[in-house]
Amino acid sequence: MLCSLLSRFLQELRFKKHIGERLLKAAEKYIPDLSGHLEYVEYATPLSSEYWVNAVKGGCYGPEQSPDQMGPGRFSDFASGIDGLFLAGAGTIGGGIMPCVLSGIRSAKKASEFLKSSRR
Ligand SMILES: Cc1cc2nc3c(=O)[nH]c(=O)nc-3n(C[C@H](O)[C@H](O)[C@H](O)COP(=O)(O)OP(=O)(O)OC[C@H]3O[C@@H](n4cnc5c(N)ncnc54)[C@H](O)[C@@H]3O)c2cc1C
Repeated sequence: MLCSLLSRFLQELRFKKHIGERLLKAAEKYIPDLSGHLEYVEYATPLSSEYWVNAVKGGCYGPEQSPDQMGPGRFSDFASGIDGLFLAGAGTIGGGIMPCVLSGIRSAKKASEFLKSSRR
């Protein structure tokens, strides 16, 4: 079991390095000697996202960005179905930093309104 995990880990490292080096080479067509100016390089794959932030199938932008999963296809009203619990993040407005930041602001506003109304 440990051996197969280690073997998979090493295989993934090699694969990531291989893909990363190809990408760097492609970028160097437009930015000559790019790799000579890099001090630290880290390659990541969907498996990295799955491992580090528990992203489903390693999707770095959250739920699929398809028409049926946008707008009403997401948790765009920030409601979780549990009173007082509100949602934010890529599963609400959309993937990417700005939609996620905006979702946090809007969700906090909803939470604040909920608190005010429940104090009455
Ligand atoms: C490599 C990469 C580059 C990107 N570049 C850009 C970019 O240039 N511009 C842009 O707009 N967007 C970019 N994105 C997308 C953007 O980062 C995401 O859409 C956004 O961060 C999603 O925010 P989130 O809060 O929904 O999820 P996350 O930022 O993934 O936060 C979820 C958090 O929940 C934690 N978590 C998961 N499961 C559990 C659990 N069971 N218990 C407790 N905690 C848990 C995770 O550890 C994580 O901290 C990039 C994403 C990646 C991976």
